[in-house]
Amino acid sequence: MLLDGKNVANEKMSRIRTEIDAIKDKYKINPALRLLQVGNDPASTIYANSKIKRGKRLGIEVELERFDTINQSDFVDHIKSINARDDINGIMIESPLPDGMNFYDAVNNISFYKDSDGMTAYNQGNLAMKNEMIAPATARAVVDILEYYNIEEKRACIINRSPVVGRPLSMLLLNRDYTVTVCHSKTPDLRAVCMENNVVIVAVGIPEFLDKTYVTEESTVVDVGINYSGEKISGDADFPALEGIVKNITPVPGGVGIVTATDIFENFLNGLKFQLKNIK
Ligand code: NAP
Repeated sequence: MLLDGKNVANEKMSRIRTEIDAIKDKYKINPALRLLQVGNDPASTIYANSKIKRGKRLGIEVELERFDTINQSDFVDHIKSINARDDINGIMIESPLPDGMNFYDAVNNISFYKDSDGMTAYNQGNLAMKNEMIAPATARAVVDILEYYNIEEKRACIINRSPVVGRPLSMLLLNRDYTVTVCHSKTPDLRAVCMENNVVIVAVGIPEFLDKTYVTEESTVVDVGINYSGEKISGDADFPALEGIVKNITPVPGGVGIVTATDIFENFLNGLKFQLKNIK
């Protein structure tokens, strides 16, 4: 089966829209997400603009604030000043930050309830306590796809151990009673590990990495990779070769990426609800 991310994203978009409309109606507020970009990395600008568009569809005002250059300490002060504003309900730092700046140090200054990307150490730590109010959006997207399509297999291997994908995803899967193996570039006999686990989540950043030697006809492949070759986007799985072999597979584009874009707003909504209940 093709695990089409569009179905997952569309369902979630309409639920978020309904909830945002109800909040606007009840509290007479205009929910706003602030994107912070330093420099002008073209891919980061494309992602920022797509968030602005998606925000419009959801009734959320998304504003991009760009700095040509700023030092880490002034940037952190700026983040703190936005934390203090109650007319801005979510903050996202666009990556990459220029050389000399530290992304994770900056991110950790965002108030946890405004952390729409789910990347603060506080929200990552909460996942281990089974509190998933705000979670890294890509990891949440993988779980959303598995749940939407009722994938019943509970043995998963994740080929990635980064704080963006593998580590938070391992927590989300454990919270759902999966038995999880987290793999990386030093994992011995990776093919055998993939064959033993029916859910294979790949995020290595290498086009066509996951070929037919890693899967069986029982495999469900979730492809997190996004690789650019000119205009063409491909994942980390050799989709044409695997499509006819495996039980289920996500496409790229149209798989994890589109659900991730929506899950940023799921985080935003959950953080907004927290603010309305506990702070305003
Ligand atoms: P990253 O920090 O570079 O992590 C890559 C991971 O892959 C690392 O854990 C690395 O192992 C592992 N790896 C690399 N080569 C390997 C090999 N030959 N065998 C086994 N493992 C290997 O990258 P990231 O930020 O997590 O992103 C990973 C991919 O996901 C990229 O393609 C990125 O574009 C994509 N991504 C997609 C979304 C989305 O929304 N769909 C969001 C974020 C990222 P080591 O730890 O040992 O180095």
